[in-house]
Amino acid sequence: MTIDEALALIRTIPDYPKPGIQFKDITPLLLDRAAFSKVIETLSLHADASDLIAGIEARGFILASAIAIKSNRGFIPIRKSGKLPFQTYSKSYGLEYGADTLEIHTDSLDKAKNVLLVDDVLATGGTMCAAIELIELCGGKITGIITLMEIAALGGREKILQKYPHVTITSLAIC
Ligand code: AMP
Repeated sequence: MTIDEALALIRTIPDYPKPGIQFKDITPLLLDRAAFSKVIETLSLHADASDLIAGIEARGFILASAIAIKSNRGFIPIRKSGKLPFQTYSKSYGLEYGADTLEIHTDSLDKAKNVLLVDDVLATGGTMCAAIELIELCGGKITGIITLMEIAALGGREKILQKYPHVTITSLAIC
C-alpha cells in the first residue's frame, strides 16, 4: 500500500452537511488496516520536534492519538465547547459551514512545550488558528501542523501563515 493508494480511499460526499459543501470523508481509509497504518506511519515522521501531539475533535482525535502511540508521545484533546471537565481556555471561530468554539484544559502543557497539531482536513484555517491560539494560551509552541487533506481554494494555509509565519504546514493531499 502506497501513501497515494491510501489517500485515494478518502471519498467526497457532495452537499454534506450543507448544500455546496464537498465533504471529505476519511472513514473508508480508516476501515482499511493497511491504508490507516500507512497514513499514521507517514504522519508520524513529523513528530520528531514535538513533546506532545494535539488533535482537534472529532476526526483529529483518531489520527492524533494513533500518531501519539506510534511516536511514543502524549496526546492533548482540543474539544468542542462544554466537553472538558477541568478549567479551560476557550476560542470561538468561523468554519466553512458554520461557527464553533474550541477548548483546551489550562494545564495541558504544564510539563511540556512543543506541540504537533493534527486534524483531518484543512479548509478555511479557522479551526487551526483557534487551536494554535489555545496551545499558545497554555504556554506552548506549535512545531508543525499536519493534515490528511488540504482544500487549497479555501485559503487555510495562507490564513495560518499570515498569523503564524513560523509554522510548518504539511498536508498529505492537496485538492
Ligand atoms: P476550517 O476551520 O474551515 O479549516 O475547517 C476545518 C475543520 O472542519 C476540520 O476539523 C475538518 O474536519 C472540518 N471540515 C471543514 N471542511 C471540511 C470538508 N469539506 N470536509 C471534511 N471536513 C471538513
